[in-house]
Amino acid sequence: MKVPLLDLQAQFVPLRASLLSAIERVMDAQHFILGDEVHALEKEIAKYSRTRHAIGCASGSDAVLLALQSIGIGPGQEVITTPYSFFATAAAITRLGARPVFVDTDPGTYNMKETEVPDAVTERTGALMPVHLFGQPADMSVLKQVAGQASIPIVEDAAQAIGAEDQGQRAGSMGTIGCFSFYPSKNLGGAGDGGMLVTNDSEHAERLRMLRVHGEERKYHHRMIGINSRLDAIQAAVLRVKLPYLDEWSEARRKNAAQYDQLFADAGLAEKVGLPFVRSGVRHIFNQYVIRAGKRRDALRDHLKHRGVGTEIYYPVPLHLQECFAYLGYREGDFPEAERAARETLAIPIYAELTLEQQTYVVDTIRKFYA
Ligand SMILES: *Cc1c(COP(=O)(O)O)cnc(C)c1O
Repeated sequence: MKVPLLDLQAQFVPLRASLLSAIERVMDAQHFILGDEVHALEKEIAKYSRTRHAIGCASGSDAVLLALQSIGIGPGQEVITTPYSFFATAAAITRLGARPVFVDTDPGTYNMKETEVPDAVTERTGALMPVHLFGQPADMSVLKQVAGQASIPIVEDAAQAIGAEDQGQRAGSMGTIGCFSFYPSKNLGGAGDGGMLVTNDSEHAERLRMLRVHGEERKYHHRMIGINSRLDAIQAAVLRVKLPYLDEWSEARRKNAAQYDQLFADAGLAEKVGLPFVRSGVRHIFNQYVIRAGKRRDALRDHLKHRGVGTEIYYPVPLHLQECFAYLGYREGDFPEAERAARETLAIPIYAELTLEQQTYVVDTIRKFYA
């Protein structure tokens, strides 16, 4: 049996006709950059995330960069974030000349330990940037309390968490600015790169709309120095076809996660294979289902690969130990939980179209490895 980590064909085939006709519509209009399609998607995403504004951009990485720039992050400032995330989270901070200040992760959720954030705040702290890792929101009530007391804005890196909720509030809508990615492996994936910013603050919305077009206020008049980060009409058209299915897909992922939990428990593996911990009051959208495979993680990965099961390691090197961040002066041992997660975790297939038969095969293959 073959169980890929992600099967984009399975999602594409039933939507083929509507996706091709959406692309055809853009071709017929010959309007490729921003424009009506992007505007319509922005309205739909704002409604979906329950925010007043949404601003399309070229990628999730750019969304994080633009959000921090809109907040005014720059040299001499610090941004508090997690060392266990995709590279873009920390890269955005350093590209603006600011310093990432890492806080170790929670061993259950893999999100930043919110309760340790107050100790990391200094007079140089310009923003808090939680990452809702694997599709589970960080504990925003704790972060909002810290941020509120010190008047620090929060940028949510919600690249993996569109539609996730904490206490009934949508990811991206709880901080000052939220960032989404439409990279094809995200729960809402485009036909290429794409990203979106959401906010309830109209000043940020206005600034973000300028920053994504080189800081242009009107044609060839630049109020600030921005970047070229526009969303393509083709991406917007594709995403508009897919958005109405997003909740259905995320529900299917949640159901698959519950099935894995049950299958691992039935196989007596719940302890051996650390299962994802979901905080109460959270709607986890399971962009990834990540198990803690312990010291033999890499051997398990090989075992699965040779039996047709795709897996991935998110992420093998924590951000504070990346070569390019050596100048920050962090060392091995600084964030033991993030480092242990990098050594022990493994993402297994969780996509919406996965069948119970495939899941049973995955769990059985893992059981044989440990037996
Ligand atoms: C995917 C991702 C990004 C970047 O998104 P791109 O669209 O790939 O640039 C940023 N942060 C996190 C946590 C991500 O998972």
